[in-house]
Amino acid sequence: MKDHVIIVSACLLGIPCRYDGRQKAVRHIILLAEHNTIVPVCPEQLGGLSTPRQPSEICGGTGVDVVNNNAKVVSQSGADVTANFLQGARQALHIARLVHADTAVFKERSPSCGVYSLRKQGEKVGGCGVTAAMFFAEGIRVLSDEDLLPDQV
Ligand code: SF4
Repeated sequence: MKDHVIIVSACLLGIPCRYDGRQKAVRHIILLAEHNTIVPVCPEQLGGLSTPRQPSEICGGTGVDVVNNNAKVVSQSGADVTANFLQGARQALHIARLVHADTAVFKERSPSCGVYSLRKQGEKVGGCGVTAAMFFAEGIRVLSDEDLLPDQV
């Protein structure tokens, strides 16, 4: 019997789904699979965006504001990709409900997955991404990849 069902940002598990077509594997997060059921999701791909793709930023707020229709997500070239980010977050949440996930481990500083901080114009600022905001609202325990140290797994 596994301990938890954990949704994990797919890039942290070695899947090359990042905007630049690369992955960001973290060995001790992959090792979560030894005692837990881990389910990879990439909300930006689930929202219909291609890989590779232009990087995007939340403009005018945080992921919470995007979910509440008070801010937008805009790509590097200025395209409004808010609908993609909202769709991807909803699809990730749908998967979480299907598998009865109790925890999520998300990649920090992403406009989708960021838990405590986002990257805006090269700077680190406070706030969560769009998918993390929806998971928080659902009552799922949301952890940043930076919360998990190798000896805690
Ligand atoms: Fe990784 Fe999340 Fe970005 Fe997908 S949306 S590449 S899972 S940080």
